[in-house]
Amino acid sequence: MKKKITILLPAYNEASSMQLLHDKMLEVAGENPGYDWEFLLVNDGSTDNTLECIKELHASDPRFSYVDLSRNYGKEIAMMAGFDYATGDAVIIMDSDMQHPVSSIPEMLRYWEEGYQDVYAQRKTSKESWLKKKTSQLYYKLLQNTTRIPIQQNSGDFRLLDRVCVNALRNMRETQRNTKGMYCWIGFRKKGIQYDQLERAHGTTKWNYWNLFNLALDGLTAYTTSPLRIASIMGIVCSLIGFVYLIYILVNTLIYGDPVAGYPTMMVTILFIGGVQLLSLGIIGEYLGRVFNESKHRPPYFVNTYNDRQIGDDAPAATGKQSN
Ligand code: UDP
Ligand code: MG
Repeated sequence: MKKKITILLPAYNEASSMQLLHDKMLEVAGENPGYDWEFLLVNDGSTDNTLECIKELHASDPRFSYVDLSRNYGKEIAMMAGFDYATGDAVIIMDSDMQHPVSSIPEMLRYWEEGYQDVYAQRKTSKESWLKKKTSQLYYKLLQNTTRIPIQQNSGDFRLLDRVCVNALRNMRETQRNTKGMYCWIGFRKKGIQYDQLERAHGTTKWNYWNLFNLALDGLTAYTTSPLRIASIMGIVCSLIGFVYLIYILVNTLIYGDPVAGYPTMMVTILFIGGVQLLSLGIIGEYLGRVFNESKHRPPYFVNTYNDRQIGDDAPAATGKQSN
């Protein structure tokens, strides 16, 4: 029996890319006849006619299946829904704008057949701006230094995941997701390959600096609690400095009878300590907010239709909950 590969394609307002996507997917299936293929599109609450295009694809070729989410949840959750509905022995995640080259797929499959369970693609060249590159480098360094799990740099969601990885990821039901970190966290046998990121042919990117900043913050707080420790360390350092300064003032007053002076030093100290306190509170708040959100135990997403079928309470994956 042939093994089945699912290509998972989260799509948000990608109507203009659908023709290209269709052609590329047929190319993949044509060039790799040794496998059964499933092209699973997750419509992440698109506001253009992406859904209509997807439905047409599904009607014309049953290998195209789709999950229609009830609203826009963001790519991370869209991928989560994809993991829940994918039926393949392995899942390849790709962007619907086809910025990931399908020519890497045979190489991924080769390593998978060799026994690697997570074949991730690393960008060889990047046409991102200098600022974006530098900030991302700095971010990875920071992340790597505060966690014990090895972080993969320059790799994104373009990768092949074996069923064991998919099942592992399906068991991680947190709603504020940083899937990039999860790939590293779950472990399993990993192999990196190189690829050239292509230009986006149609439509526009959905990321801006604010989104990226939020994603980065989510990544930090999802990976590590070390900012909390940094807050404690800052507290200790500040108290120590304060204590030494207190002794200095005491001695000074006792020996020289120095009158109270130094309005500037006082202001600086108050402002500095106040800043540190607010920062620490903010850090605690970041984590507390995440605890609050997760503690509600809401299903991470709701599905409207799966392959023309309205999803009711009977479908196990329908609420995004898993029986465990
Ligand atoms: N995407 C999504 N939901 C969103 C935003 C993006 O499913 O809320 C999908 C989008 O359709 C695309 C992929 O995520 O397939 C990557 O998005 P984009 O190309 O805008 O990001 P970039 O490649 O510029 O980083
Ligand atoms: Mg893109």
